[in-house]
Amino acid sequence: MESLIHYFENIPTLHRSLLLVGGITLFWLLEGVLPLFHFNYNKWKHSWPNFFFTLTTIIINFALAFLLLKTADWVTVNNFGIINWLPQMPLWLYVITGVLLLDFIGAYLAHYIEHKIPVLWMVHLVHHTDHNVDTTTANRHHPLESIIRFVFTLAGVFIIGVPIGIVMLYQSMSLVFTQLTHANIRLPKKIDKWLSYLLVSPRHA
Ligand SMILES: [Zn+2]
Repeated sequence: MESLIHYFENIPTLHRSLLLVGGITLFWLLEGVLPLFHFNYNKWKHSWPNFFFTLTTIIINFALAFLLLKTADWVTVNNFGIINWLPQMPLWLYVITGVLLLDFIGAYLAHYIEHKIPVLWMVHLVHHTDHNVDTTTANRHHPLESIIRFVFTLAGVFIIGVPIGIVMLYQSMSLVFTQLTHANIRLPKKIDKWLSYLLVSPRHA
């Protein structure tokens, strides 16, 4: 577990890019073999707007990443944040708790508020207006939404007090899981059900 966190502390940009491209490629291929819905569409033509919004999301997150790093370092040095005020716990529990709390604030809460506040809903609509939802829809986010989500994640890092290793582990997991969630894949029912206890599975999305 220690080496895993250590790896994510310094995860190379190349590895993060490979995760992004590798995930989309894998799910894209699976969509061809095991589609959940039979869309009659040109997959490449459909994907370009989504790739465009994925690119703006990447640029925004890349440009602001230093803020995440600075905040994560500050909370670690100052022993600040919920997770550091809890009683001492084993590393694996510390990592799981950190990832779950980050997901709650950075993804769930951000998404919830985007659905509740009319102005934010208009921004978030870009994500929900894809006529054919597939793996490329995952990061179809208006640039303003990318900023909103970043701000929530940043606030999450501060409030929860997670070190950068856990932040990067969470972001990498979230990246691949959201590609899977949106993917138009018919998984065997049992696997889908089992997955749905852990994350939002394609069938339950
Ligand atoms: Zn939504």
